[in-house]
Amino acid sequence: MGLLDIVRPKMQVNSLMEIPLEELRAQGICYLLFDLDNTIVPYNDPNIPDEIIAWFQQIKGAGFFPCLVSNNHGPRVEDAAGKLDIPFICDAKKPWGDGFLRAVALLGGRKEQTAVVGDQLLTDMVGGNKDCFFTILVAPMKSKEYWFTTHFSRRVEKILKKFL
Ligand SMILES: [Mg+2]
Repeated sequence: MGLLDIVRPKMQVNSLMEIPLEELRAQGICYLLFDLDNTIVPYNDPNIPDEIIAWFQQIKGAGFFPCLVSNNHGPRVEDAAGKLDIPFICDAKKPWGDGFLRAVALLGGRKEQTAVVGDQLLTDMVGGNKDCFFTILVAPMKSKEYWFTTHFSRRVEKILKKFL
């Protein structure tokens, strides 16, 4: 696996609503591991828009099993998961940790049936690709970000995206 292969998403979409659920289902994917900040809600925003809550209800109704996997901390992630009524893994330490694998175990699924969805190449995509998940990059919501993301990760992403 080359450097770019570990960074490269298997699929790219502009928003959660654009995720082609039927295409994923046809691939045998029914477990979806979601990043929280700038994927589902703006960074550290406690409010979840009604349409996002409705979309999660819709995908659950359609037979998908979502879970949050976030590097953010307990109370924040637990609160969001509660509002979405889905399980969660917090302090996931993406890309290094085993958060995605723990989430799959929590859901009772298998890696081959699971997609990782997130807005960052260096955490979500690298973390998902290193453990051989199907990875989906979502365009980041525009908001303030964690200082390291703004000053380091986004700059590196800008360079990497030229090669993807
Ligand atoms: Mg994020």
